[in-house]
Amino acid sequence: MIRAIALERVSMIPYGRQDISEADIQAVVNVLRSDFLTQGPAVPAFEKAVASYCGVGHAVALNSATSALHVACLALGVGAGDVVWTSPITFVASANCALYCGASVDFVDIDPRTYNLSVERLAEKLAQAEKSGCLPKVVIPVHLCGQPCDMAGIHALSQHYGFKIIEDASHAIGGKYREESIGNGRYSDITVFSFHPVKIITAGEGGMALANDKNLAKRMRLLRSHGITSDVADMIPRAPEELWFYQQIALGFNYRMTDIHAALGLSQMQRLDEFVAKRHAIARRYEELLAGLPVTTPWQHPDSYSGFHLYVIRLKLAEIGKTQREVFEALQTAGIGVNLHYIPVYRQPYYAKLGFETGYCLEAEQYYAEAISIPMYPALTEAQQDRVVTALREATGL
Ligand SMILES: *Cc1c(COP(=O)(O)O)cnc(C)c1O
Repeated sequence: MIRAIALERVSMIPYGRQDISEADIQAVVNVLRSDFLTQGPAVPAFEKAVASYCGVGHAVALNSATSALHVACLALGVGAGDVVWTSPITFVASANCALYCGASVDFVDIDPRTYNLSVERLAEKLAQAEKSGCLPKVVIPVHLCGQPCDMAGIHALSQHYGFKIIEDASHAIGGKYREESIGNGRYSDITVFSFHPVKIITAGEGGMALANDKNLAKRMRLLRSHGITSDVADMIPRAPEELWFYQQIALGFNYRMTDIHAALGLSQMQRLDEFVAKRHAIARRYEELLAGLPVTTPWQHPDSYSGFHLYVIRLKLAEIGKTQREVFEALQTAGIGVNLHYIPVYRQPYYAKLGFETGYCLEAEQYYAEAISIPMYPALTEAQQDRVVTALREATGL
């Protein structure tokens, strides 16, 4: 019995998973044998590697992307009375960060082809908000599945309406927008990455906030560690005989990344391009194998080189003659670890209680009713991919 369960676990193909090498393990072991498990040299080394990869001035490592989004909002001055806008098709953290700051959140419907926040809907909503005097302080576009949003369009609107931009690039490290690395900050104030194990590279848990503005980076560094500074230049002057080697000058948190995590992240950076290339090869193969099935494969905007964190297909339910749930369950029964990214955030019970109604964003609802994420990660073999496609063919009744 126990054996049967174990075998079943082995044969389950997850929708995503980490890829850990011996070099990654060695990097972590080296930290464990060193003097510093936290606040040592690995964190700045990881920050430097990511900043130079992305071509951005500053990178601040944190214990998660959720923490990174929180300090990013605070650094941009988000507080009570402010409004932050994001996409409804995202992980809840993209919206929660605004609520942590006492601000409120609102959602901009998605583009029907990229599933990212729609620039047309954003422009309409901004025009209305301007009339009613409730423009957003910050907009958080999310690069869903790793495909960058129309950043030039969003940036142009930010110049006109005066809002700030945080890119939630939790899915998108290693991707490019118009031939340039996501995270370089050309079209935004802050970019956030996640290093959760299902994401493109992992630190176990972890996140990073990138900015070109020195003061924003400094503010985020301060907030990640209790609001404490040991830089005399930032301290409030005291009597010369008093010994003050650090001061708390803001209300911060313990959002620090450990050196153990940073060492893993830094080691994974070496294979980032390889991981993304592998994801693209898997996507190309899915594209071929799924041709003729009643599904829509992910459309790629010509401006984008996706990180391909996720591979989301949309079911053509009218052709399939089954419900999304039936297809989903058939795939699970066949040992395919499918998932749904995402339920529109405003439909979460917590958000519904805040007053959001079902049907608030029509494109997002349509997407939610048809989307399924199928397995996508660098170590996915062709045989496993074939199994996914066979299961999908059977589940869609062909
Ligand atoms: C994973 C994810 C986050 C949160 O990342 P953590 O590192 O787990 O906190 C935020 N936004 C999006 C879009 C994500 O996918």
